[in-house]
Parts: sequence; structure tokens; C-alpha cells
Amino acid sequence: HSSTTYQHQIIEYDPDIHTYSFERQIVQDINRAIDSNELFMVYQPKVWPGTGDVTGVEALLRWNHPVQGMISPGVFIPVLEKSGKIFEVTDWVIENVCRQVSLWLEEGVAFKQVSINIPGPYVTSSRLLNVLNDNLMKYQLDSRFIELEITETSVIHDIDNAITAVGRFRDMGLSVALDDFGTGLSSLSYLRKIPITTIKIDKSFVDGVPLSEKDSALLRAIITLCTSLKLKVVIEGVETQEQIDFITSMVETPYIQGYYFSPPLPEGEFTDWLNEREV
Ligand code: C2E
Ligand code: CA
Ligand code: CA
Ligand code: CA
Repeated sequence: HSSTTYQHQIIEYDPDIHTYSFERQIVQDINRAIDSNELFMVYQPKVWPGTGDVTGVEALLRWNHPVQGMISPGVFIPVLEKSGKIFEVTDWVIENVCRQVSLWLEEGVAFKQVSINIPGPYVTSSRLLNVLNDNLMKYQLDSRFIELEITETSVIHDIDNAITAVGRFRDMGLSVALDDFGTGLSSLSYLRKIPITTIKIDKSFVDGVPLSEKDSALLRAIITLCTSLKLKVVIEGVETQEQIDFITSMVETPYIQGYYFSPPLPEGEFTDWLNEREV
């Protein structure tokens, strides 16, 4: 499967450059980045492997920094979370994605739902509700087109408020996915109480499959648990035919998000990808 060269230009986490001054630079540069089009979104499809149906797409943030080059969100998002700047950036992400969705709908692109990553501290804020409502209104969007991805870690960090917040999103008609499931070292009892619609199984559970027997047994058990909860299940980070074969051998097949189908693509390339599958 072709993954674009573009994907490999991204700088991954490097402890040598991830110093205090690097962090300060990021916080200093982010305002300019928002104003001068250095930030942009890429889109990665979620596919049902049985039929090839595209059920949705995750929006992922990119920063093309004039000096540092393409910086990975895995590097700059944690820095912005620490400094509080992540709120402004998330406002930008929500508006940008809503505008894109309204364009896709106008153009008649065969598109079902887009997922937006919401950082931990933002999930329970009233600011998030306002920004969502403002943008749904501004772009005349039906809320069923939007899913919010919130991490398991942020949910268990503030479980009562997270349950309330997710209930409000559902009342608005939004879908809510539990992201990075299985990485938060939590008890599972909260799953009964939180009205999520989707569970995303983290890539770390896929990497060793199928070569490692233990990893394969663990992934199979997690998929069985999640599908039996009657939630939509998405597995992230699926790259190889062997992984697809392993996953589709299960009774209830989850949705797949991974390089096997497509890397995250800029908006134009993503619509081309979608249109090519249509025919
Ligand atoms: P995530 O939410 O778990 O997103 C999935 C990550 O896995 C993405 O990395 C995606 O490109 C990558 N991925 C998907 N399939 C494959 C695969 O088959 N192989 C490999 N090697 N990787 C795959 P990305 O885009 O670098 O984002 C990293 C993290 O940064 C995200 O993890 C998320 O936590 C955060 N992030 C990205 N965009 C945003 C955003 O707009 N807002 C917030 N708050 N966080 C974001
Ligand atoms: Ca990456
Ligand atoms: Ca995510
Ligand atoms: Ca993940």
C-alpha cells in the first residue's frame, strides 16, 4: 500500500530537541502559526474491512513550521497542553473542520462523519459547548456529522465531570469516541456509566500482532470485550495484510483506521481517495 512521502517528513519525538527552549519556542510561535496558515488538518479514513465502506474520518492536526519543518502533533500538542495554549488551537481545529465538512456537503462528497480530537482539560469546559454550538450554527451543520474523540486518560482523570460532559454532547446529537482505549490503566467499571458511542483501541495493541502470541491474545480479548458492549469499535494503526487477516477472522469485525487503507491525507488528496473508491 502506498503511503505518501509526505507522511515520512514529519519530525517524530526526539528527546534531544525536546528541551525547555524548544518548548518555549513552540508556545511563542503558536499564535503566529494560527494567523499565518502554518496549521492545517489531514484526514484519515475509518473503513469496514468486509465491504470497504468508509464509516468516517479522523481529523488530525499538522504544523508546517517555517524553521523546524513539519512538527508532529505528538510533540507540540503536549507542550501546548502544558502552557494552556491548546484551548485556542482546539477552537481553530473545530472551526476549520466544521468549515471543511460544510464544503464537502456542498460538493456532494460521499462523507459520513468526521472525528475531532478534544484535549483532556477542554472536554469538561463550558467553552467547548459554546464553540461547538457556534460553529454548528455558523456552518449550518447537523451534529450527526461530528464525533468527538476524548482520551481514556482524560476521562478517568475526572470521571464524574466527564460523564456529565459526554451526556451533554449526546444530548446535542454528537457522537463520542473513547480514544486510546486500554492505555489508561483503569478499572473497566466506568464503561457502564459513560454514554459513549465508539471505542478506539490503541495502536499499541496492534503493533505486535500477529507475530507475538501474547499480543494477539490480548488484542482478541479486547476486541471481544468492546464488541460485546454493543459499541462501535475502531482499531487504530493497522498496517499489514497479516493484521487485517487476524482481525477479520473474528466473529464481530471492528472498523479499521490505519496505513493499510490510507495514511492521513490533506483535504484534496483525501477527497480524491474517497472519489476513487466510489467508482
Ligand atoms: P491519536 O488520536 O491516537 O491519533 C492516531 C495517530 O496514529 C495519528 O498520529 C495517526 O497518523 C497515527 N496512525 C494511524 N494509523 C497508523 C498506522 O497504520 N501506522 C502508524 N505508524 N501510525 C498510524 P498523528 O497524526 O501523528 O497524531 C498523534 C497524536 O497527536 C494523536 O493520537 C492525538 O493524540 C494528537 N493529535 C493529533 N491531532 C490532534 C488535534 O487536532 N487535537 C488534539 N488535541 N490532538 C491531536
Ligand atoms: Ca506521527
Ligand atoms: Ca484520536
Ligand atoms: Ca492512539
